[in-house]
Amino acid sequence: MPNEHIKIMDIPFVNITQRDLLKGELYPRLQESKTSYIVTANPEIVMYAKEDKSYKEAILTADYIIPDGAGIVIASKVLKKPLKERVTGFDLMIKLLSHAEGNNLSCYFLGAKEEVVQEAMKRVKRDYPELKIAGHHHGYFDLEDASIAERVKEANPDIVFAALGFPKQELWINKYMSGFKKGLFMGVGGSFDILAGNTKRAPYFWIKLNLEWLYRLLKEPFRWKRILKVFEFIFRIILFRK
Ligand code: UDP
Repeated sequence: MPNEHIKIMDIPFVNITQRDLLKGELYPRLQESKTSYIVTANPEIVMYAKEDKSYKEAILTADYIIPDGAGIVIASKVLKKPLKERVTGFDLMIKLLSHAEGNNLSCYFLGAKEEVVQEAMKRVKRDYPELKIAGHHHGYFDLEDASIAERVKEANPDIVFAALGFPKQELWINKYMSGFKKGLFMGVGGSFDILAGNTKRAPYFWIKLNLEWLYRLLKEPFRWKRILKVFEFIFRIILFRK
């Protein structure tokens, strides 16, 4: 049965639990060496897509757009089309790392500053000692520089984690993925910073209460502008519903 989608501001989110997404979709696709493109979209991404047509086009080519961010799940409830659950990019990456280790699949780490991606890989090697690392590259290159995609291709990875932040990560995947024969491509934002221990995830109880955004705001007040976008998003959803 094809997956149900729930449109939020014109972005079709797949309505699936993390478990079903992994077991029913991503693991089989990896097994068959298919290409897959996953966007983990939060309210800021949805708002950005609304304002930037080429970014919107780049995310609409994804095989799966998943709801990362409590705001998306809240919006789906306001629209009376509730999404089953929030599926965060970071959690999905952790599950994929573990699956890759157990199934002899290789991972490429693309993005963040050189020292951050190095540190993130150190932690990955410690936690997943059998994992095959296909390679890595820092994220500070020009989107037009096709040599980066060539390097990734030569490494022949099964999974490519693109931690370039949005919009760059989705623009990069959309631009270069068609040249790959296999590979699960996923934008993971600041996840390498979390792996490297530079950014802390909110404690469980903040996440449970859907307050991870508030925790981040308190820890990184320079992000206040981004939080405003989240409020604008919720505001628009409520207006639109009426
Ligand atoms: N980054 C990168 N290349 C760039 C811009 C950013 O690799 O040209 C990295 C940056 O070092 C950080 C991540 O992308 O590790 C963005 O993190 P952020 O928390 O801002 O993620 P977002 O919320 O944008 O997904």
